Amino acid sequence: MIRIDSVTKRYPDGTLAVDRLSLEIPDRSITVLVGPSGCGKTTTLRMINRMVEPTGGTILLDGVDIQEQPVNTLRRSMGYVIQNAGLFQHRTIVDNIATVPRLLGWGKQKARARAAELMERVGLDAALAKRYPYQLSGGQQQRVGVARALAADPPVLLMDEPFSAVDPVVRKGLQDELLRIQEELGKTIVFVTHDIDEAVKIGTMVAVLRTGGRLAQYAPPAELLSAPADDFVEDFLGIDRGIRRLSFFASGGLELTKTPIVTAESTAEQIAARATPDVPYLLVTDPDGRPLGWSEPGALGDGPLDAARLLSHGRPFEYGTDSLRAALDGAVLSPTGWAVAVDGTGRAVGVVSQQTIGEAIRSAHAEGRTGAQSAERRTAAEAGADAGAEAGAEAGVAG
Ligand code: ADP
Repeated sequence: MIRIDSVTKRYPDGTLAVDRLSLEIPDRSITVLVGPSGCGKTTTLRMINRMVEPTGGTILLDGVDIQEQPVNTLRRSMGYVIQNAGLFQHRTIVDNIATVPRLLGWGKQKARARAAELMERVGLDAALAKRYPYQLSGGQQQRVGVARALAADPPVLLMDEPFSAVDPVVRKGLQDELLRIQEELGKTIVFVTHDIDEAVKIGTMVAVLRTGGRLAQYAPPAELLSAPADDFVEDFLGIDRGIRRLSFFASGGLELTKTPIVTAESTAEQIAARATPDVPYLLVTDPDGRPLGWSEPGALGDGPLDAARLLSHGRPFEYGTDSLRAALDGAVLSPTGWAVAVDGTGRAVGVVSQQTIGEAIRSAHAEGRTGAQSAERRTAAEAGADAGAEAGAEAGVAG
């Protein structure tokens, strides 16, 4: 665990960048430092690997003051990833990734083998190994930056706005990849961003800083969204925090109804049996049960189905896996106001009205029940000690 204890940084010109900041950063989780530009995020991160020396307070790593460790030893235990990846332009991708192992005295072959393994881990095609950084897209370069930081298998990863320079679609891919890698490797990650959505998505714990490097709130994302500490945090979270908070509630508790689901082959009689006064539309599926679209009951059952006349079924949500936010989105996007729930194979398992979703939201809020870790992501904590033991063993072999 990293423990930041009443740390202050005043730069020589008098700027107070960080003011008596205290944080306990848990092992094997992602702790995000977020806040407006100039609030001291980068300074805080750089104090952890001593690129910046604090002017007050202490930072402990596993109970030991980092000032008592040789700086090289300390940095070897901490991978560092920055915006635009900061790759060596004159080195190939594989050699960029192998940099630290080579510095640690590994043979060329072993270092390159490790690099190849990491390329796969961060989702880079092996064919890119011999290229130079300028021959890669921004997103690919960022993946190389992550692979390079992981090369010597450090227990800690420090990441400074690593995904801020890439477009939103690529950024989402990188975030998902980081969560997946974290699940597998269980690193202790400290991640700096100015983007609150990114913080909420990837953080196990989120520290919101205000200008002057003072801590405004330190909490898990769901708690931040449900109970911002003050107006500053509330403003920083933005206007749709209520909707975003639904990402932390699982959809598995929603009561689905199957009655309005019919297949395209259904007869007029079968249709009539399904149409009830409180179900204004029927969901038509293919023979495998995959949704095709909504129809008014009267338009079905006499002759072959005219698929072009069906109303769009919107975007189905995966029951139990997706969150209440996805279910609500499905209902809002659906012209009928009903969301379609599917299983992992895309077969319709039921439908649910906006009203029912609204009731579920109210009761979820009332119970304060958050399916935070199950709804849209899992944390390293769940990846468990096994993965950690493996990573440790690997480090032992590697070292
Ligand atoms: P953030 O990462 O949140 O944008 P920084 O940690 O980079 O914030 O900076 C915090 C404050 O410290 C800012 O006011 C910045 O201008 C100032 N600062 C950062 N580095 C230096 C430096 N080397 N000398 C003087 N002031 C600095």
